[in-house]
Amino acid sequence: MKKFDEAAAALVAQAQADLAQVCARIDALEQENQARVLRAFQQERVAARHFAPTTGYGYDDVGRDTLDKVFALAMGCEDALVRPQFASGTHAIYTALAALLLPGDTLLCATGTPYDTLEQALGLRGGAQGSLADYGVQYRQIELTPEGEVDHEALGQALGRFGPAVVYFQRSRGYAWRQSLCVAQLEQAFSLVRQAAPQALIVVDNCYGEFCEEREPTQVGADLLAGSLIKNPGGGLAPCGGYVAGRHGLVERTANRLIAPGIGREVGSYAASYLPFYQGLFLAPHVTAQSLKSAALFARVFELLGLTTLPGSQDHRTDIIQAVRFSSREALLLFCQSIQAAAPVDSFVTPEPWDMPGYAHQVVMAAGTFVQGASIELTADAPMTEPYTAYLQGALTYAHGKLAAQAAVAALARAATVRL
Ligand SMILES: *Cc1c(COP(=O)(O)O)cnc(C)c1O
Repeated sequence: MKKFDEAAAALVAQAQADLAQVCARIDALEQENQARVLRAFQQERVAARHFAPTTGYGYDDVGRDTLDKVFALAMGCEDALVRPQFASGTHAIYTALAALLLPGDTLLCATGTPYDTLEQALGLRGGAQGSLADYGVQYRQIELTPEGEVDHEALGQALGRFGPAVVYFQRSRGYAWRQSLCVAQLEQAFSLVRQAAPQALIVVDNCYGEFCEEREPTQVGADLLAGSLIKNPGGGLAPCGGYVAGRHGLVERTANRLIAPGIGREVGSYAASYLPFYQGLFLAPHVTAQSLKSAALFARVFELLGLTTLPGSQDHRTDIIQAVRFSSREALLLFCQSIQAAAPVDSFVTPEPWDMPGYAHQVVMAAGTFVQGASIELTADAPMTEPYTAYLQGALTYAHGKLAAQAAVAALARAATVRL
């Protein structure tokens, strides 16, 4: 048995050696993003008083209001709404869209089918009550090109034909076998929207993308971003929540929709203190970098084993997701189970596929995390359907990512699923 562990360790060491340049690039990225986040804290004069808990309505909650300002500076935009009252990334995205779209308006999605949990919220699948479709919002979608890029020709036509109020982009691959859209690609598509439909608002699902590049989509023309705090920008410490960030008026509109028009962001207390949100945001560039390195390491390890990965280990990354294709259902499940077994929390449980709310297929989810389901921690999910793709993301530390890679390879080799 020891034979497999030693061979797996040797393979991972080889992969790590192959990634020296990739890791150096990620270090440089972290340095730049850390500087931006640090400046944001200093500019807003963050102090101990911002960590004091509040109760009740939370009027004049300086901790809450300052966190919004620091976050906006970190995202390079005018304003942000960072709230534990956003239950998830889906809730933040849905709230933003519901705030910006009125009955009769058209929502145009420029990046193919949106992330699974949004399909019901928008009204594309199932008959969920209160979906945007229920409120009379029209939905249109254009597919990505076969290369996984925004189809500029189709986008230009759709902008003219449908006159959308909102054009929506999903930056990350989610559960799709495609390259994620880097900020430079988004920038090109945004400028097309600006020319062809100046009245349209550009909204981006930024989940998994924060701090993966030197610029955020708000810095290249997006009007509003939305995402989850139990992914990158929570730095592994935020216990829950979501955010929107972008133009001031749109953030205010979203606050009205989340709370109530006329009250908006003025209320909302948090008795548990915003300390972990601040500290997590400060750590986010580092933790995201750890996740990026772990993702590249898994990619290289499986490349060496002859499996197909997306992105490839040397590819430019714009999110923390690593997709790996396995040859069978059993291998896929075993991989996810080995990630669970390598976790600091719930390492002794065996994940099984289940009908997760909001998803079309059964999903197996390895999430041995401190914060339940936090995918900035090392996690792996897979829809249990062909072509047997695991989506791996997160890692609070690269050292943990490495240990998990070794354990996964050893487990797969022991089951004779891969050959070392
Ligand atoms: C995670 C994710 C979401 C939804 O976030 P939840 O917090 O799981 O609701 C939406 N879009 C993408 C691309 C995601 O990765």
